[in-house]
Amino acid sequence: MTGGDQTFAPGTVWLVGAGPGDPELLTRKAERLLRRADIVFYDALVGADVLDLIGPEVECISVGKRSGRHSKDQRTIDALIVEAARAGKRVVRLKGGDPSIFGRANEELEACRSAGIPVSVCPGVTAASAAAADLGLSLTLRGLARRLTFVTAHTSKGAVPDVDWAALADPQATLAVYMGKAAAAHISAGLIEAGLAPDTTVALMENASLPDRRSFVTRLDLLPLAAKSALDDGPAVILIGEALRGAAMMREMPVPAAAHAGE
Ligand code: SAH
Repeated sequence: MTGGDQTFAPGTVWLVGAGPGDPELLTRKAERLLRRADIVFYDALVGADVLDLIGPEVECISVGKRSGRHSKDQRTIDALIVEAARAGKRVVRLKGGDPSIFGRANEELEACRSAGIPVSVCPGVTAASAAAADLGLSLTLRGLARRLTFVTAHTSKGAVPDVDWAALADPQATLAVYMGKAAAAHISAGLIEAGLAPDTTVALMENASLPDRRSFVTRLDLLPLAAKSALDDGPAVILIGEALRGAAMMREMPVPAAAHAGE
């Protein structure tokens, strides 16, 4: 199947990236697939305004997973997708952000392929990109931040995340940590112990792209405190590195006198 393929045959599956929440960040392809689908299985992180784009005639099934609140396990989701496609439906599996980034896409691709069901992927805007856009900065900096690493620090309750901090403690890298809120203390301690400066800039961005987003800019050594006190209970991405310094500087920028005077 080519990238420009416009078809959506009955009995086939599309894994579709819903982006970070703002429906305007949905690709045109994703919107078209949503309008043509017979059935949509969606995650908890898919924005309500994105779901509003789906017609009333389309069957919409929440298979929502949010940490600690798993409603359906992965095998059940795989089986539901395969079953719907076997019944001749056009199936959309709608996932937050980009399906290929911490989205369990592989399990669903394999489930379809081993059942002989054609499956394709429509990419989406990932949370780190949306967070950078909200902060008004670049995740890479020429000569200063040459590496961008997507990492998850998700752990089962209370466990220490199994992360190779030494491999990540690179002052010339930007780290985008997904599902990292609960592990903030481990992230901070792990990176500092592995040699990253305690005053490395960190930005936390919750609900990126949405009207109720909130961000907080801090230092690596203060990350645990910030993760506890500065955020609500929305999804949050933690961005770490020199590239985030711009966010810290923008905060400190004095408001020009003219702005006060409304001139
Ligand atoms: N496939 C998704 C990531 C799924 S993992 C993507 O590409 O964005 C879920 C994690 O993504 C959340 O715990 C959080 O770290 C991050 N995330 C998803 N949506 C977000 C949003 N709107 N704002 C901030 N972080 C978000």
